[in-house]
Amino acid sequence: MDLMEENRRLKEEINSIKENYKLGKKLVIEKSAYWEINGNEKNGPFCSGCWDNNNKLIRIQKKPTAVRINICPVCGATTKSE
Ligand SMILES: [Zn+2]
Repeated sequence: MDLMEENRRLKEEINSIKENYKLGKKLVIEKSAYWEINGNEKNGPFCSGCWDNNNKLIRIQKKPTAVRINICPVCGATTKSE
């Protein structure tokens, strides 16, 4: 691989690690799901498995067929909603 290309790729990788690190510090876990805290704003819930495995913030959704169960559309993990 070309050195310039390799350099560019590494810079991108470092940036995404930095971004994930900053984002990770804003996340709190509550009722088995992540919430992003931005000052007074609370954003979420997000799948804990998807963040822990892949650093992807996936919004979990209400499962249509079950009461008070949320499901992650990516990995299918379920959590109880409040
Ligand atoms: Zn997930």
